Amino acid sequence: MKEHGIATKCVHAGYTAKNGEPIALPIVQSTTYKYDSSDAMGKLFDLEADGYFYTRLANPTNDAVAAKIAALEGGVAGVLTSSGQAANLFAVLNLCAAGDHVVSSTAIYGGTFNLFNVTLRRMGIAFTFVSPDCSDEELEAAFRENTKAVFGETLSNPSLNVFDIERFAAAAHRHGVPLIVDNTFPTPVNCRPFEFGADIVTHSTTKYMDGHATQVGGVIVDSGNFDWTQNDKFPGLTTPDDSYHGITYTERFGKAAFITKCVAQLMRDLGSIPSPHNAFLLNLGLETLPLRMKKHCENAMAVARFLEKNPNVSWVSYPGLEGDAEYAKAMKYMPNGTSGVISFGVRGGRAAATTFMDALRLCNIVTHVADCRTCVLHPASTTHRQLSDRQLEEAGVKPDLIRLSVGLEDVEDIIGDLAQALEAAAK
Ligand code: PLP
Repeated sequence: MKEHGIATKCVHAGYTAKNGEPIALPIVQSTTYKYDSSDAMGKLFDLEADGYFYTRLANPTNDAVAAKIAALEGGVAGVLTSSGQAANLFAVLNLCAAGDHVVSSTAIYGGTFNLFNVTLRRMGIAFTFVSPDCSDEELEAAFRENTKAVFGETLSNPSLNVFDIERFAAAAHRHGVPLIVDNTFPTPVNCRPFEFGADIVTHSTTKYMDGHATQVGGVIVDSGNFDWTQNDKFPGLTTPDDSYHGITYTERFGKAAFITKCVAQLMRDLGSIPSPHNAFLLNLGLETLPLRMKKHCENAMAVARFLEKNPNVSWVSYPGLEGDAEYAKAMKYMPNGTSGVISFGVRGGRAAATTFMDALRLCNIVTHVADCRTCVLHPASTTHRQLSDRQLEEAGVKPDLIRLSVGLEDVEDIIGDLAQALEAAAK
């Protein structure tokens, strides 16, 4: 049978109701599972039999949703995490220990940058940050003997840089390491990184996948394509794990080695699982993801075109606009649309941008993005308010920058609200 399309997978993948079973994914809100004998449970602990014993390691609701997202990305296996932060943390920790090194794009979410540059650095993992537009020489020079992975964001938050997946995957593979990409903004509806050579995909499912601002979550998906045994860089996967009955993950689990290790080791020791109820809420969002992404992109394109023409707007960044610096890469990696997120400048700088924000009536001032409601943020007066205009420029956040996440309202209403607030800012 022909492989199902993405909309069909969004509705059906991961859970099929059998005769007389509930059609909606059941919430298995139980921490533990009962067995008739110690021996039956022992086989689960030895990973010799399939089954559930404790929800920190696995839960049927969580597993069904992880399997759905793995199917959407075209991967072999996935695991849900309690946040997007945990997904990126675990993706790196599953490969790196103290003394190891990662090459990362600079165009990544601030929380991920902080996780890498401060917290993981403190734990002994080194990072070299390279501009996504760096020269081939600069990229090559970033690799070291102890490099274990390359990391980037397919569409970066908030700079909206489209990551050249093929180029970075080729560089990673030349050095015998995998490319990990955070695919939160485009979602697999608009971009499927495995088709361009990425090996591991992560998401903050808190964003479009949920889309209704009801749960914080993350996911890691493995393509199954990376050969961990090609060199001796990944002993955690290719040599016996003394903490898990001497299992060698690549020998025992083949293409599922990466995700099995992530669950058996990292989830066991560090936790960070979502509640099954959150996985259920995430699944409701996933069921309508293709419809919502299409509408987010249509609305954002109309809003971007309106902003481009507005005299009170100094600049607009939206990779879907023909004149945008990222347009050519957007057409290659996400031809059906990028996301609903736009950034633009209010003419008149920081003060005018603040007046604009205060005049908005429909758009919501929140730190969130990728929601059914239009969300708007002025970093210079909120998240970055302690910085001077000069420090803001240095951080790549212009004082007049507005991050606008276009929602699912009637686009005339969104544009009407923006138009009246831009007029107020010009007075
Ligand atoms: N990755 C990206 C691209 C994000 O935008 C975010 C949050 O905004 C995260 C990761 C972190 O996700 P979470 O807030 O779910 O921990």
